[in-house]
Amino acid sequence: MLLKLLFGSKNERYIKRLRPMVARINALEPDMLKLSDADFPARIAAWKEEVRNGRKVDDLLPEVFALVREAGKRVLNMRHFDVQLVGGIALHEGNIAEMKTGEGKTLVATLPVVLNALSGKGVHVVTVNDYLAKRDAAWMGRLYGFLGLTTGVIVHGLSDQERQESYGADITYGTNNEFGFDYLRDNMKFYKESLVQRDLHFAIVDEVDSILIDEARTPLIISGPAEMSTQLYRRVDTVIPPLKRSSPRPANLPQGEDFIPDGDFEVDEKARTVTLTDQGVERVEKLLGIDNLFDPTNMTLQHHVLQGLKAHHLFKRDVDYIVKDGQVVIVDEFTGRLMPGRRYSDGLHQALEAKENVTVEAENQTLASITFQNYFRMYDKLAGMTGTADTESVEFKQIYELDVIVIPTNRPMVRKDHPDMIFRTQPEKFRAIVEEIADCHKRGQPVLVGTVSIEKSELVSGLLKKLGVPHNVLNAKQHEKEAEIVAEAGQKGKVTIATNMAGRGTDIVLGEGVKELGGLHIIGTERHESRRIDNQLRGRSGRQGDPGSSRFYLALDDDLMRLFGSDRISGLMEKLGMEENVPIENKLVSRAIEGSQKRVEGHNFEIRKQLLDFDNVMNQQREVIYSQRRELMYAENLDSIVEEYAQDVLADILGPASEGKDMDPEMAEMVRSRLDEVFDFDRFPGFRRNLPNKTQALAWINETTGALKDAAPDHYQEIARYFTLESLDRNWKDHLLNMDHLRDGIGLRGYGQKDPKQEYKREGFELFRDMLDNIKENTLRALCHLRIKTEVREEEYQHKETAGNLQYAGSADGSDKTKEPKRRVEPKVGRNDPCPCGSGKKYKKCCGAK
Ligand code: ADP
Repeated sequence: MLLKLLFGSKNERYIKRLRPMVARINALEPDMLKLSDADFPARIAAWKEEVRNGRKVDDLLPEVFALVREAGKRVLNMRHFDVQLVGGIALHEGNIAEMKTGEGKTLVATLPVVLNALSGKGVHVVTVNDYLAKRDAAWMGRLYGFLGLTTGVIVHGLSDQERQESYGADITYGTNNEFGFDYLRDNMKFYKESLVQRDLHFAIVDEVDSILIDEARTPLIISGPAEMSTQLYRRVDTVIPPLKRSSPRPANLPQGEDFIPDGDFEVDEKARTVTLTDQGVERVEKLLGIDNLFDPTNMTLQHHVLQGLKAHHLFKRDVDYIVKDGQVVIVDEFTGRLMPGRRYSDGLHQALEAKENVTVEAENQTLASITFQNYFRMYDKLAGMTGTADTESVEFKQIYELDVIVIPTNRPMVRKDHPDMIFRTQPEKFRAIVEEIADCHKRGQPVLVGTVSIEKSELVSGLLKKLGVPHNVLNAKQHEKEAEIVAEAGQKGKVTIATNMAGRGTDIVLGEGVKELGGLHIIGTERHESRRIDNQLRGRSGRQGDPGSSRFYLALDDDLMRLFGSDRISGLMEKLGMEENVPIENKLVSRAIEGSQKRVEGHNFEIRKQLLDFDNVMNQQREVIYSQRRELMYAENLDSIVEEYAQDVLADILGPASEGKDMDPEMAEMVRSRLDEVFDFDRFPGFRRNLPNKTQALAWINETTGALKDAAPDHYQEIARYFTLESLDRNWKDHLLNMDHLRDGIGLRGYGQKDPKQEYKREGFELFRDMLDNIKENTLRALCHLRIKTEVREEEYQHKETAGNLQYAGSADGSDKTKEPKRRVEPKVGRNDPCPCGSGKKYKKCCGAK
């Protein structure tokens, strides 16, 4: 506190520190004026060379910023303001620059973009939608082009080749979704030539709060049809009916008495959950013929059993769903309407289909997923800009290590933010709102009305229609058209109603004569859960020193007030004595409301942090797998990798026998059969006589791979790469599903005092280790069972890289061959050829059957 008094706030100190730097940039301006247009690209090229030779870009900051400013003037007719230079430095130093709407963030970004592009490693500018990516790239691209730098755009619907070109540019604009999906798609590819992204070097995220906070709760997911057999649902379905439901738990249990359920499972109708009792677990194990339902390898089964129980005991036919034309159709619980095409997630729909004995549709499963948090944390350097970040600065710091720097506005801000108007009920509130809109409209002052939902927008629109007030309604569906309408919102007499998403990133310029009328007036129809969203709405008015005003209208029965308003608010209101249609304006009440917003913000932050804690476990595993993939893709020669796999698998199977220790005959037989299963050792005459030691086994494996090399000298490395990657992807995909189930199940199993997150971490790690073992074993199994009889045609290894629906050519079609050990993997066999296993059937009807 004392420190703050003496030296100003941290923010002030930061900005003060930058003053000499800004002065230096200003001092360079006369020199820049003298440059000819051709000097600009020449300078940039020379600096690029210097940076390549080891010069730090930080050293070049003043010169580069001065050059970019001059270029802005010549090409765009905009000279970066001093505060924009400050914003640019803050971004370069990896911070979040909070700059109000209309302060010119698009232009600010050009400064650090050019400076960091000198490294040649690519700079990404991230926007919230395709429209903005295209607009900003075209707009600022002129400046970059003038400097001899290339600009690319990544939007929806581009081909891989176009993406490669865009990512290859010095500067790349694109949306968060596209950047994230490209990362995931790249990590599903087989050939390094088809990768589109380069290393993630520097990103500036525009509207950073929307992307890193609002959208943080929904991860990016690429999914494809699950390969898991739908038969499993049927199998599990048969064990459900014999299970006995426990009698309900008594409401009051005598003290010190434990409730012992008398059946196989318990149902909690209120919580909509089902749990197996100890006795139930035993019965299920017996019925399914397995040892331990909670063994990690039975994770899927366990999940199916719980879904089966739910399907039979929580979901009622003709209430929750109906069966129509051989399909299970959901009934909406609120409206009672049928919802054809919609499916319950997570296998529940399949469980219902099995229960009703109709066709079980294949499930979709996650092939790859990542949260924005984890995607953006991979950049060497990350920066962000937005009009509203300060309220969330703790989260930015804790999760992303980003500081929020509040940049002063270029001109003083004169918008008048009126105190809230508080009504007893919503109808009273909305009546007052439309009256105020009608009044502004009559005077010609433009109004922007912000609502929290499409429904509320329509409500206001309906009321205005009755009054005959013309207006536009926007709800964030078509970005391009919306941007146009929002840009018009500052014209005389305009009334625009928008949900808070609509027309984001578009500046509202005041029309002729509007300044005299008081500028743009903002009406908020209720407070949002987060103050930041309210500030975004307010920020639409009063840009660049324009006049403007704002007011929020609230009612005691608004969601926020109802759910989170403390008793304090209602207490206050009573004291103030509210009357119908008479609003109150009171600082104390407004402050109390802000208090509840802070509480909700804190609560939402906790939820996001929890999610992140879980996701971090996945993230570590993803990093390991993706880096292994890269290694496999880039390795010229996979011999040492295959050898390492062989060592590990042998050590695992041979166990004590690897040191030549004696084994009892039963054990020895088991080892023998495992060795044969994985390595196909039966071909070696010595194998039947004696169990091989590790050296012998390795020699046989080398002989096997050696034969492959001889048969296809030009292709062996690609074949090895193919099987390793294929095995890695298949196991990773299954693992993702297991981890999903583990996470769902973690709450269901009683852990006593244990922390579920720790348990998730521990069990997740075990599953991961098993998966790594499986990858190695599957790879070797495939390689050792492969025979190359004739020349291998290259195209048969071609792997179609369609994300979301991976297809493999040849017989390695992604189906799980390895579960049936004796199957030969024969990439060159045609689907109509005789099967190489010697059955006499066609390949497609035998080993090649899907
Ligand atoms: P923000 O994203 O911060 O809301 P924009 O980047 O959309 O703002 O810019 C708002 C408006 O300000 C644009 O019309 C832009 O042309 C203008 N502008 C920004 N910086 C300058 C400048 N230095 N000189 C002149 N006009 C500027």
